Amino acid sequence: MTRLLRETPLRAEASETLDPQNWDELRALGHRMLDDMIDYIASVRDRPVWQPIPDRVRARFREQLPREASDLGEVYRTFADFVAPYATGNVHPGFMGWVHGGGSAVGMLAEMLAAGLNANLGGRDHVPIEVERQIVQWMREMFAFPDTASGIFVTGTSMANLMAVLVARTAVLGKLARQHGIGNDGALLTAYTSKAAHGCISKAMDIAGFGSDALRCIGVDQAHRIDVRALRDQIARDREIGFKPFLVVGSAGTVDIGAIDALGELAALCAEENIWFHVDGAFGALGILSPALAPLLAGIERADSIALDFHKWGQVPYDAGFLMVRDGERHREAFAAPAAYLRRETRGLAAGSPWPCDMGPDLSRGFRALKTWFTLKTYGTDKLGAIITRSCALAGYLEARILAEPRLELLAPVNLNIVCFRYACEDADKVNGQIVVDIQESGIAAPSTTVIDGRLAIRAAIVNHRTDVCDIDAMIAAVLEFGAQRSSRRDRLPDIEAPPLAL
Ligand SMILES: *Cc1c(COP(=O)(O)O)cnc(C)c1O
Repeated sequence: MTRLLRETPLRAEASETLDPQNWDELRALGHRMLDDMIDYIASVRDRPVWQPIPDRVRARFREQLPREASDLGEVYRTFADFVAPYATGNVHPGFMGWVHGGGSAVGMLAEMLAAGLNANLGGRDHVPIEVERQIVQWMREMFAFPDTASGIFVTGTSMANLMAVLVARTAVLGKLARQHGIGNDGALLTAYTSKAAHGCISKAMDIAGFGSDALRCIGVDQAHRIDVRALRDQIARDREIGFKPFLVVGSAGTVDIGAIDALGELAALCAEENIWFHVDGAFGALGILSPALAPLLAGIERADSIALDFHKWGQVPYDAGFLMVRDGERHREAFAAPAAYLRRETRGLAAGSPWPCDMGPDLSRGFRALKTWFTLKTYGTDKLGAIITRSCALAGYLEARILAEPRLELLAPVNLNIVCFRYACEDADKVNGQIVVDIQESGIAAPSTTVIDGRLAIRAAIVNHRTDVCDIDAMIAAVLEFGAQRSSRRDRLPDIEAPPLAL
């Protein structure tokens, strides 16, 4: 023991723990924080969706490491003045960029409760894990998976997709591959998805050690669904030259335009070919809660694994991704790793095996299940499904407004809740890119962009449960207004060469 340790007094004064000396002061401040955040959500419409960050604000977060204590009230004031006003804006009903969920006040309260418990859901015998198991059971029920299916909360679908690749890998190569690496057999494994699939699938193949070249990106039809015949042909060609097809990833809601692959056909093909069938249902899988959308997802119940996010259409605050695997044993075989300090017992705190740490790379894990449990219990799945249906109806309304407006052009079919369009004018790629930034900076709305068939599109993904007809109208008005400004101003401004679009 060092001298410094020996001479440290053992009897802690109250002031030497991290607990407050005056709980009443903390309570008062805590109540104020809670009131402020409830007001923040309740009055979100009164604020801009997003606003550019002034340099002086950014500079606040370039401070030196704080060795000295600060007053909690002061720290909170910095948050209230410099963090809260400059968030992404996805709580706001005008936010339509990317695919972001709106969250809810209920989810926020549940996060506070979870933080109070400071539960670690890696393992051990405590009810927070039973809450997570409850969600797993509900997901089995929703997707008609067997009782032996396993499930686990993760950060998001990027992680869930990666874990699915790893489970499929261990299933085909056997557990020894975890010890020896993927080896020569692994080098021949090939996976399949569509050109419209999310980029995290390619990244998963890279991280899993196959390399992204081992992922064959199959062409899509007009509606951006995977061409199943082309997939079948590619699998046959690969087998002929000695490759070993092991995984097909179907999309239940592509990120660009919300296309849902023919999941039933993919399931049948995978069964025939003895290939692992994984579904990336990041936002679309929860469409199963909407009677209008559920038929489009037919076949998802035959998947070997499903990845989804509660933090998108499920409106649970970030982050809350989820992976479910039909064969729980396979799932555990891919990740369980015995260690002396993680020994299991049948009684006491070390009971309750298998633990979540047997089903993923994480040991320490937070209580994501609680905000999801609160959301599902408080609102009920009928209501959540109705919100999903309504997002699609609003996308239909936006589509109709675009079709009725000669200055606007629809660029892709509207499958679910995502609408890709643009302001029709000369030099439309450049002008539409500017329009989107103008709208974001105006604080009126926040669409994003994508590229459809080589053309830059304004992309509006309606995910937030607060979004209403007036928000769609405001966004359209802004597109027309900035479009008119940008396309006429362009004639007067010297033409500056825009950098080429990164694809
Ligand atoms: C959002 C999304 C992902 C990535 O999920 P994260 O939760 O952001 O990691 C993957 N696939 C699709 C189709 C998505 O929409």
